[in-house]
Amino acid sequence: MTELLFRDDAYARSCDARVLAVDGRGIRLDRTVFYPVGGGQPGDTGVLRLSSGQSVMIVDTVKGEARDEVIHVAAPGSAFPEPGTELVAEIDWERRHRLMRMHTCLHLLCAVVPGAVTGGQVADGRGRLDFDVPGSSLDKDAIGARLNQLIAAGHQVMPRWISDDELAAQPELVRTMSVKPPTGSGRVRLIEIAGVDLQACGGTHVANTSEIGFVAVIKIENKGRQNRRINIAFA
Ligand SMILES: [Zn+2]
Repeated sequence: MTELLFRDDAYARSCDARVLAVDGRGIRLDRTVFYPVGGGQPGDTGVLRLSSGQSVMIVDTVKGEARDEVIHVAAPGSAFPEPGTELVAEIDWERRHRLMRMHTCLHLLCAVVPGAVTGGQVADGRGRLDFDVPGSSLDKDAIGARLNQLIAAGHQVMPRWISDDELAAQPELVRTMSVKPPTGSGRVRLIEIAGVDLQACGGTHVANTSEIGFVAVIKIENKGRQNRRINIAFA
């Protein structure tokens, strides 16, 4: 079982940790700041620094089978640390911060575009959401202007927790059915952008929308009947 420090503090860049297990897939730690790929957000990259001076480059982070199991995927050819080794786990913060900014921006996009979200993906410097919207009713420039307005307004972004049962009673809190938040632990995390958006989400976000910076709607694609893909990038 790994303590997931990013869940309560998305701004934690590094932590002390101990190696629990190592196998062909990667390295498990007792605690970590590395976010594993999920919910449309890529896994973190970074480095594990051993007290010996040796370091192990981490090229991806994925989920294991067990709940809260996080696997740090080492660069090919790395010498793995032994179980029990104490180390410092440090993410590539510049990249993670860009992912947090874009991820939070996609929450704003949910609030701007009326219609069910059918899919989404955060990438480094860009992101996209698919909406079940008919016809060509979406105006690229109007969406971009509204997004930048919400960003500039400096809305606070706050996590809070509800029970699995409370979530089941409010299915509208799950905006993207294809990237359901993790349930089964008895509680689910909500991300609230006060007065703008509220939804269940397990990813990492910035604390204030002004931190996102200006964005542009690059293009709106037609991905089949009633499916419009809105592509966003940092301006
Ligand atoms: Zn989110």
